[in-house]
Amino acid sequence: MGVTAPIPVALHPHLQSRWSDRRVVAAERDVKSWDEGLPDVEAVRPARCPCCGTAGRPAGAPLGLIGHGIRRRHQLGPSDVGERPEVAEVIVRRYRCRGCGAVVTVVPRGVAPRVRYRLAAVAWALGRWWQGVSAAEVRREVSPFVHVGEEARRGWRSLRRWVEMLGSALGLDAFGPPRRRVERVLQQLAARALEASGELVGDAVAGVVLVDVHRLCRGGPEVPTT
Ligand SMILES: [Zn+2]
Repeated sequence: MGVTAPIPVALHPHLQSRWSDRRVVAAERDVKSWDEGLPDVEAVRPARCPCCGTAGRPAGAPLGLIGHGIRRRHQLGPSDVGERPEVAEVIVRRYRCRGCGAVVTVVPRGVAPRVRYRLAAVAWALGRWWQGVSAAEVRREVSPFVHVGEEARRGWRSLRRWVEMLGSALGLDAFGPPRRRVERVLQQLAARALEASGELVGDAVAGVVLVDVHRLCRGGPEVPTT
């Protein structure tokens, strides 16, 4: 146990194929509390390197995962239901493994690898789409950017990508018409809401931040906490 009580982390190994030397780990702290104060380097140091298993802070030995600075990442979308879309930033911590040289990134809950939008905004967008709102209108509600051109007319590809991402993370199969698949994703998200209201879209927004969307590559080892 380190000086500061560590925050449990879970491994997200799916980036292995794209980022050959990088891994992402999510802290249990959500993005709102993270924004109130970036956790210090000790608080969110992973217990182990997700690549080689080197202990982050072995007892009586030098650190295995050494602070490797911070990075700013965009977080797009409304900060809350009914708010205007915005471009915000979240600061993530990085660590370098002394064992294998990998750079491990630690992100708050509610932030997904390679997704520029807040997860709550993603669930909201899918909910509005499911309600029958056009993709173009959903985009206006969720995206901080003004879109023109062919893609704006045809719809918003991000919606389909998000259905794939969440469906995969939730273990859903990829069959069925798009609208039905969106509904199943929303139902799964809503079931995770801590205080369900019975309203599907609102509950899905509340539940999405509790989904480990990083575990897109199933079967990866868990990173134990120390
Ligand atoms: Zn390592």
